[in-house]
Amino acid sequence: MVHKLIILGSGPAGYTAALYAGRANLRPLLIDGGVGRGQELQGSGGQLMLTTEVENYPGFEHGIQGPELMQVMRKQALRFNVDVVEDLATRVDFSERPFKVWVEDDLYEARTIIVATGASAKWIGIPEEKPVWEGGLGGAGISACATCDGFFFRGKEVAVVGGGDTAMEEAIYLTNHANKVTVIHRRDTLRASKIMQDRAFKNEKIAFVWDSAVEHVHDPAVKKLTGLTLRNLKTDKASELEVQGLFVAIGHRPNTDIFQGQLDVDANGYLKTTHDVRSSRYAVFAAGDVQDHEYRQAVTAAGSGCMAAIQAERLLEAEGDTDIVETPTDW
Ligand code: FAD
Ligand code: NAP
Repeated sequence: MVHKLIILGSGPAGYTAALYAGRANLRPLLIDGGVGRGQELQGSGGQLMLTTEVENYPGFEHGIQGPELMQVMRKQALRFNVDVVEDLATRVDFSERPFKVWVEDDLYEARTIIVATGASAKWIGIPEEKPVWEGGLGGAGISACATCDGFFFRGKEVAVVGGGDTAMEEAIYLTNHANKVTVIHRRDTLRASKIMQDRAFKNEKIAFVWDSAVEHVHDPAVKKLTGLTLRNLKTDKASELEVQGLFVAIGHRPNTDIFQGQLDVDANGYLKTTHDVRSSRYAVFAAGDVQDHEYRQAVTAAGSGCMAAIQAERLLEAEGDTDIVETPTDW
């Protein structure tokens, strides 16, 4: 059986694409990333499964817990004739239509594809980064998204780990909320662009701790972040830093490994798109964080999932029953 549309990924982009495609009678197949929180690629529900309060997704006056929001999105999408494979796609062949997607040995074919496989925040690798429900402080003081969680730290002191543009951007943003932001960097020079460095150095609320790594975050036992133990990597001396929040800003990794050689990616591995959601391959669309390193928000991911589904529907409508083989000049 050749599906009209296969959607890869079940974060806000994937579920929104499924919702629109389902309601457009495309009967999409959603390969949802599998079950299980905390697995490397998040699994079904995507990145919001790793957080607690989401206060900036419209429609929820008093905010909503991340996993609950994703459960509601799933139920809403699955009302409309969406078939689901609860697993990760392991290989694709987009060289000709119908496109091929494998989940281990099982082959699925489709006339159009929406890639919504998201991105994964990089973590330092200390045990306290685990989500709070697994005994860590993730979502309860440790975050990878200042735009999402900065608001919770009004009038408090926080730390940011990292020395790149993301870390500077997060630190500067956090000064809108926190009284003091300490950037902890493992070297004594920043990787960030000169302009971002200058902005951070000029900001009186930002302090720097150089040549240092976060060794421990306190105190998972009380489910509250009370401070950090830092290690100076040059002198090996330990020190304590009293903060109420820790933002890990050491970069993101788009989940694009299986598309290497099939779809064009930028220097950081994100899928390149034109017309908002068109990948480099005709009839393959890309939505959400997998193609967006700038906004990285649930609402923007959902918006691009909607765009991708509408574009897929229009493409299929224009083609009728026959796949166009040559890439049209206006793609
Ligand atoms: P993702 O949510 O990353 O989902 C990708 C999906 O693709 C997952 O289901 C994954 O399992 C699946 N997948 C990956 N590879 C494959 C494959 N090979 N085959 C099949 N499926 C695959 N944004 C906000 O707007 N507000 C917030 O408060 C907020 N808080 C956040 C807190 C944290 C801790 C983090 C990490 C992010 C937060 N964000 C927040 C950002 C938001 O989560 C992302 O912008 C959004 O989830 C991106 O949606 P997406 O659908 O593009 O991708
Ligand atoms: P990045 O440039 O790769 O920087 C990552 C930073 O985190 C580096 O300083 C690195 O240290 C540090 N780091 C990595 N792993 C670490 C670990 N395990 N423990 C502690 N520190 C660690 O990533 P990015 O900042 O996300 O930027 C990615 C790209 O997006 C860049 O091209 C950047 O210019 C761009 N970007 C631009 C803007 C902007 O212009 N406004 C904003 C965000 C991102 P080292 O320096 O020692 O390697």
